[in-house]
Amino acid sequence: MSILPFNSDDLDAILFDLDGTLIDTDNHDVAKWAQRAARVYRDPARAQRQARRLVMGIESPVNAAFTVFDWLGLDAPLMRLMIALQGIGSIDDLPVIPGVESMLRQLAQHYKLGIVSTRTVKEQHQFTHRLGLEDQIAAYAGRDSTWRIKPHPQPVLTAAQQLGVEPERCLMVGDTTVDIRAGTRAGAWTCGVLCGYGMRDELEAAGVDFLLPETANLADVLLNGRDPGCIS
Ligand SMILES: [Mg+2]
Repeated sequence: MSILPFNSDDLDAILFDLDGTLIDTDNHDVAKWAQRAARVYRDPARAQRQARRLVMGIESPVNAAFTVFDWLGLDAPLMRLMIALQGIGSIDDLPVIPGVESMLRQLAQHYKLGIVSTRTVKEQHQFTHRLGLEDQIAAYAGRDSTWRIKPHPQPVLTAAQQLGVEPERCLMVGDTTVDIRAGTRAGAWTCGVLCGYGMRDELEAAGVDFLLPETANLADVLLNGRDPGCIS
């Protein structure tokens, strides 16, 4: 049985978050912090565990703070603070999540595609250029192109408008609660992926429509109606 809460024909467009969804910022950050932790912990496995705990610990309160600051209309200053804290590096240095490139090519034959990220539009273009997907990805919403950032719905609405698609016929795909809240508030369907920063219970609490173990599972689920397993 399909895990989708809609018919795949009811969808015209798919919008993707970048970090933790299409690019592996998560493990990249863990590796970076593990190097630092290794100076304190002699056991590399322990350093890795401590680094993961630290990265996950940074991400979740940041997301919680985003939600509070979004209520206050202060999300852009917070974004700058987050970038300062996390030191988000050049997108060209970050590995693409396995299977993502072929998934995007498959989905582009059936759906309009866009990127909705707190990275700049320039960085989003760098990502599509690196994969040679300039012709497949037609919408870009970044922190420099909208007044508000996720979890505000504006970036999702902006990308849907660029594609000429009603938000109700869009699927927002992301790894954290800000993606799910932005998508839901825009009236879009939402898909949470468990290959990034977000945890299953917090994504469910945010009201996600369905979850996938990996972003690359999405083509199989949408085009072949296949259940990727691990998710009940
Ligand atoms: Mg993300």
